Amino acid sequence: MSETKNTTFCPIPWIFQAARNNGDIRICCQANVSPNRGIVRDEAGRAYNARHGRLSEARNAQLMKEVRRNMMNGCWSQECVRCQQEEASGLNSRRSYEQEQWPLHLEDVVPLTKFDGSIADEDFPIQYYDLRFGNRCNLACRMCGPSDSDSWYADHVALTGENHYRDSHGSVVLEQKGERWLDRNKSYAWYKSEKFWTSLSKHENGLKHIYMAGGEPLLIKEHYKFLERCIESGMSSRILLEYNTNLTLLPDNLLSLWKQFREVRIGASIDGYGETFEFQRYPGRWASVYENLKKLDRQEKPIHSWLAYTVTVYNVMHLPEFIRWKVEDSGFSRINSSRRRPTVTHHVAHKPEHLNVKVLSDHQKSIVSENFKKYRTYFIENFEPAHRDSGLSILDSVESYMNSSSYHEQFGPQLKQFSMKLDALRGQDSSQFLP
Ligand code: SF4
Repeated sequence: MSETKNTTFCPIPWIFQAARNNGDIRICCQANVSPNRGIVRDEAGRAYNARHGRLSEARNAQLMKEVRRNMMNGCWSQECVRCQQEEASGLNSRRSYEQEQWPLHLEDVVPLTKFDGSIADEDFPIQYYDLRFGNRCNLACRMCGPSDSDSWYADHVALTGENHYRDSHGSVVLEQKGERWLDRNKSYAWYKSEKFWTSLSKHENGLKHIYMAGGEPLLIKEHYKFLERCIESGMSSRILLEYNTNLTLLPDNLLSLWKQFREVRIGASIDGYGETFEFQRYPGRWASVYENLKKLDRQEKPIHSWLAYTVTVYNVMHLPEFIRWKVEDSGFSRINSSRRRPTVTHHVAHKPEHLNVKVLSDHQKSIVSENFKKYRTYFIENFEPAHRDSGLSILDSVESYMNSSSYHEQFGPQLKQFSMKLDALRGQDSSQFLP
């Protein structure tokens, strides 16, 4: 039986579970745009947090049951609005992507899902986990903030004058210890909880795919222990690992562990080369990250990797030059070598709004367009067809997104303030990078 594309059914609520970087369980990351951010709560309104285990219980929380019921009745839940809108504008949504990935259809779930939307682990084992290991990170990238990286704490305090900020698990209070600012309650270190790992072990038999991010996942020692356990138990041969990493480290022992998994996919967060990289991914050092990229490029199956380029106001001018560099100068033969994405894998930063490319003034946008035009001609004259088409389509999509609306009036002043203050704190000069 096959699922038609015209329903609201998505396999995610039946086979998947996700922990945000503060440990709060949510439906999936696309639900982040909905008012409740897709966070799953108990009857008292408390978010289920991975640090407390109770992973099975969270699967049958009120919100999960409601979302399943809506899907079975052909209705959209407000948590799924992003997929709904993407599909309405003719884009591929995560829902449609997951439908292609998982052979689970509406007809399969209806007989085994109870009237109230609840399910049993035996009928629907968790096959896919999204684990974001806290906010420990050695970089403080411009478009991130304290909830993404603890290296941001000092700049957050200096920029806002406040020693706290809000996240979905409550107010995070920062305190200074010597040179460093720390989270007083260690509220992001949920992955150190034995209760989480014990609860996860009950679901390991069904696991096929694990996505890991952070913070920076390769800094987390519990992640290494987990990989070792998967190898010891023999599970690794059926598991696909997927990462987003800043690639500031790539230890040999990790490469040896990865080789024992069915497949490993690495999205390396590389937003440019040279100074552009160092500006946006502060205080990363391009020379050492480039060495790790070359090492990654030498890896063979089961490791696949790509350059995940986050487009912001600071690196939008550099994007076409980065594509040219990737094709002509990088020396890579395996990174981004798929037919679908033979150059780079870009995405635009929607938030924070003041770094979104839509915030640029009309004049700045025309400078970006002029630059893109120059490179389009270069790609057409110099690239072989696959690279040419990929390069042109990336530039077209970014330009059309940038021009689709304007945030300039609302967030332009914030961009200016933010850039000046952070430049002063970091000894950088954003005017070199802005159009
Ligand atoms: S429809 Fe979209 S938002 Fe809803 S669960 Fe599926 S992937 Fe997530």
